[in-house]
Amino acid sequence: MSTKIPTKAVYLDYSATTPVDPRVAERMSGCLLTDGAFGNPASRSHVYGWEAEELVEEARTHVAALFNADPREIIWTSGATESDNLAIKGVVEASGGERVVTSSYEHKAVLDTCAHLESLGLDVTYIEPDAGGIIQPEAVADAIDPDTAIVSVMHANNEIGVVNDIRAIGAVCRERGVPFHTDAAQSVGKIDIDVRRDNIDLMSVSGHKIYGPKGIGVLFVRRQPFLSVAPQIHGGGHERGMRSGTLATHQIVGLGEACVICRGELDRDNGENRRIRSLRDRLWSHLRQVPKTLLNGDEEQRLPGNLNVSFGDVDGDTLLTALDDLAVSTGSACTSATVEPSYVLKALGVPDDLAHASIRFTVGRYTTTDEVDYAARRVATTVEKLRAARV
Ligand SMILES: *Cc1c(COP(=O)(O)O)cnc(C)c1O
Repeated sequence: MSTKIPTKAVYLDYSATTPVDPRVAERMSGCLLTDGAFGNPASRSHVYGWEAEELVEEARTHVAALFNADPREIIWTSGATESDNLAIKGVVEASGGERVVTSSYEHKAVLDTCAHLESLGLDVTYIEPDAGGIIQPEAVADAIDPDTAIVSVMHANNEIGVVNDIRAIGAVCRERGVPFHTDAAQSVGKIDIDVRRDNIDLMSVSGHKIYGPKGIGVLFVRRQPFLSVAPQIHGGGHERGMRSGTLATHQIVGLGEACVICRGELDRDNGENRRIRSLRDRLWSHLRQVPKTLLNGDEEQRLPGNLNVSFGDVDGDTLLTALDDLAVSTGSACTSATVEPSYVLKALGVPDDLAHASIRFTVGRYTTTDEVDYAARRVATTVEKLRAARV
């Protein structure tokens, strides 16, 4: 047996965050020191500013090209959390609308934003996913009424990896004249997105889910017809007034490079997503042989790197503790401070005991076959051991 297994732990948590690609880190480091493009992109009176501004605008075209947007439709933010906040609060505030339509299994950045709006007196309709974890476009159509200011439905779910048909959901919204926002933090760069074809009006993107740095993201805002978004951070009027604050040149350049790399992989016949999908399938082909395992979420309509599995007849906490050499997650990383069964799995109707003993494995750019085989063996033997100890 070859043992190319990292000493820390095998990293199978690419949906929580990714390491920065070395090509990205190299571009970023060119924007920091005295001999690099450290200037303020908003400085109009000297070459340091011009140089930084040029890099920022170049990165804007790279990000836009990844999903067929116009560079002028890209608003830099600090990450998908801020983008979700800006999209939903910004459109609600600018439109004066009274209802938000969303789904019950959104990321907390959307759910908590909606809860805040409810506390201010707005109505929020939460659509439930079907048993496969999919939000049906018909359910969105039924939820929209004349007071609806915005529909926000995520593209791919961060926990179970299911992928919604955003083109159909977008079409439903467009027919009814309601702006459609989608949180695409998990899907951008992994699934081909075209904001025009897919009827998207606003879209959230995060740098650190696609081998870019943390602390940078994008909100795509459709330009035509004009869509008004009220700023949520006021200041120097950057980003067409929608988001003030000095632009973080190094982060932006990093995200731009990360998008160039993803575009290249998506366009290549034999791009990384095929490899990632086959590693995921390999992991599942091992794990499904363990008795009483259940795949959560639709088997076909899911992200290439995601596997979310429930194990019957084991205690979830004990299982995770025993698997201390695997970096995996239960529930979503952002909520793992609370030890309640995952609200996403609950929304799918997975019973509490099964939801407790569920693990999300996410593989990515640097995952190897050895790591997948090692993880599968560790999980299988640990589950068997814990079950044997129970009786
Ligand atoms: C990671 C993630 C976010 C948060 O993104 P940040 O850039 O970390 O703020 C939001 N939505 C989804 C679906 C995510 O996976």
